[in-house]
Amino acid sequence: MTTGFFWDEKCFWHGGGAYALTLPLGDFVQPLAAGGLPENPETKRRLKNLMSVSGIDQELAMQSATPATWGDLARVHPESFLTKFKETSDAGGGELGLRTPFLRGGFEIAALSAGLAKEALAQVLDGTLDNAYSLSRPPGHHCLPDWPNGFCLLNNIAIAIEAAIASGQASRFAVVDWDVHHGNGTEAIFYDRDDVLTISVHEEHNYPTDTGDITDRGTGAGAGYNMNIPLPPGAGHNTYLETIDRLVTPALQDFAPDVIIVACGFDACTFDPLAHMLCTAETFRQMTAKMMEVADETCDGKLVLVHEGGYSEAYVPFCGHAVMEQLSGSSRAAPDPMAEVVAQRQPNTRQQAFFSEVITDMATELLGT
Ligand code: ZN
Repeated sequence: MTTGFFWDEKCFWHGGGAYALTLPLGDFVQPLAAGGLPENPETKRRLKNLMSVSGIDQELAMQSATPATWGDLARVHPESFLTKFKETSDAGGGELGLRTPFLRGGFEIAALSAGLAKEALAQVLDGTLDNAYSLSRPPGHHCLPDWPNGFCLLNNIAIAIEAAIASGQASRFAVVDWDVHHGNGTEAIFYDRDDVLTISVHEEHNYPTDTGDITDRGTGAGAGYNMNIPLPPGAGHNTYLETIDRLVTPALQDFAPDVIIVACGFDACTFDPLAHMLCTAETFRQMTAKMMEVADETCDGKLVLVHEGGYSEAYVPFCGHAVMEQLSGSSRAAPDPMAEVVAQRQPNTRQQAFFSEVITDMATELLGT
């Protein structure tokens, strides 16, 4: 079993702007001391560091990749947008969308982030790796073809998929987005296509506040190939696993992709400052196990996870490490120091019955079951 891990220190150098989480700075909002984006490098760098401390990195095929080329980017993003992005980046940085500030060199770092995802997917598809994780930063799932938003400057997963199609490596892709926010960019890019099944599990109307509805199923040839699973705030470990079992897995089995790509945000974790869910490191471990199972069943185990959001600097590394343990089968653990507490914070039986009822309703609407 060979598991790849794609990362590059340069991706941690992306930054820009003074922020206070996502509050608009103004007369009464003081910028946070760190002065940077809530999407800051430390959640990711600390994951990479934890992997070095546990030693699990010695069992993984750790590597960087070349940046995605202009041609790679242009399969997803219009040249007019790319030119403006490159020029603004060369001129010192700026902001071309919503909450996507970048500094000089931001274009090159975003292309590198996409390049990591592209290479991870390519190496899984050609059999060099059994599965892989791409620690892409900046993230990608919110980015529309011509409008970056939600910390996402280029759509990493879409760029990777289009490169794989162009090289003839695969033709059917399933994207499972368990970042706590709606994968609006990926949805928009593939909304009218039946060769890419997009599934987003998210907190309803968190971000964006006006997309991600269950009724948005795709259009034209893509009708039925987009699935939104908006969960109420407060959903935790059991609800996420039940969602995977009852909604996501049947859709993947039915679609039978060549590869499964997970847009892996860790912001559904209980410590996240930008969302209101109760997932734990163990949740992410078990969701990964379930994805491996359905990948074994449908596509020879071909599975690629691409990092998206997750804003708890202290806790995200433990979630990510649990995913890497599961993905690689390694016994080099980094035990969740909060395991007992976060297990106790889960919804009680009566609340859990409510969440199950929500899932039952969605199964009827989405799968007719
Ligand atoms: Zn997110």
